[in-house]
Amino acid sequence: MDYFLTEEQIRIRELTRQIAEEQIKPVRQHYDETEDFPRDIVKILAEAGLFKLVIPKEYSGTGGGVLEMVIATEELSRICGGISLAYAGTFLGTFPILLFGSDAQKARYLPSIAAGKTLAAFALTEPNAGSDAGAVQTKATREGDHYIINGTKQWITNGREADIYSVIASTNPDRGARGISAFIVEKSYEGFSFGKKENKLGIRGSTTMELVFDNCRVPAENLLRKEGLGFIIAMRTFDTSRPGVASQALGIAQGALDEAMIHLKDQYYGGKPISSSQGIQWILADIATEIEAARCLIYTVAKNIDCGGKNISKISAMTKVYASDVAMRATSKICQIFREKGYTGNYPFEKMLRDAKITQIYEGTNQIQRSIIGVNLIKEMPG
Ligand SMILES: Cc1cc2nc3c(=O)[nH]c(=O)nc-3n(C[C@H](O)[C@H](O)[C@H](O)COP(=O)(O)OP(=O)(O)OC[C@H]3O[C@@H](n4cnc5c(N)ncnc54)[C@H](O)[C@@H]3O)c2cc1C
Repeated sequence: MDYFLTEEQIRIRELTRQIAEEQIKPVRQHYDETEDFPRDIVKILAEAGLFKLVIPKEYSGTGGGVLEMVIATEELSRICGGISLAYAGTFLGTFPILLFGSDAQKARYLPSIAAGKTLAAFALTEPNAGSDAGAVQTKATREGDHYIINGTKQWITNGREADIYSVIASTNPDRGARGISAFIVEKSYEGFSFGKKENKLGIRGSTTMELVFDNCRVPAENLLRKEGLGFIIAMRTFDTSRPGVASQALGIAQGALDEAMIHLKDQYYGGKPISSSQGIQWILADIATEIEAARCLIYTVAKNIDCGGKNISKISAMTKVYASDVAMRATSKICQIFREKGYTGNYPFEKMLRDAKITQIYEGTNQIQRSIIGVNLIKEMPG
């Protein structure tokens, strides 16, 4: 189905599908086993122009938006949810600049992100602050024409691999969430280093690291917009990026169903193909229907965001909560259908199940997404 996609969006879908099939499929197991960062694939995606997708034309991008991002992420995730994150993590780090950057900040960073030469990351989470973004303890203190940042960030996607980091830090701890600010921090800045690398259950083709700021000197011009806007910058970033996590989940679910349909013909019980069983057909029917519903929701919400839709927090949260739950159900049911062959490395289903799990956790757990949806429903109550 082509939905309401333009010719250019269909071209992006075909291009990413081809790269995923031809270049990523042969190496996905390698990256899953080694947990190395897939530099070679990132280079291929950069050369194909896929980092340009969300960057405006005036900054050497293709002028697309969230819909283009979700199409590409879905296709890559169909084959590998980890490698797709090594790609899409840069969008999360770029949105604060796109949404809140000055002309000078955009001119400095966006063209090289578009070219795939600069990778980006987004750093909010700390040992004691995640869901409660207002509790960040990393501090930024103004000293002349610099800010001095001190603190530790945990679980940061693209950590060490990225060249620039959108970092959330407190400039006024007495003001809680209103005292938070956002900065663009370059990897080369004095006082910025990396701590522990995480060993993960899934998405092992991506890197997750601790960031350490020890009197890190950041030029004052790298403050995004103004002091005190960091919380809003973080929330607007998530509103824009959550359909991306949803599309990662969607791609993983679709990839599992695609592989299931290929290998089902080799599965027999009592001399009959199991695909002839109504019980199996009904399971597959539910999976396929939920995947289609997730895709329609994600594409519609992405288009709405790109058209400047207002109050997107609720619908953006809906994409992530729905698609990630679909991905967990789909991969779990397909592992069940393939029994021991689904649970072991005979087929990619166990990897897909491991990769799917994170989509219920990061960019705000699904509990937090349900809270966002619930709070907005109450706000919209008539009377
Ligand atoms: C592989 C990986 C990659 C990541 N990448 C990044 C990244 O690039 N950048 C970044 O900043 N972070 C990143 N994270 C962090 C991730 O976004 C957080 O772990 C996640 O948002 C949860 O935050 P927390 O761990 O601080 O949980 P907490 O905020 O400590 O919450 C603990 C638990 O309480 C629940 N909870 C909290 N408040 C409520 C409430 N009001 N109602 C109901 N339940 C509640 C939560 O759902 C959660 O289960 C990553 C994490 C992982 C595992």
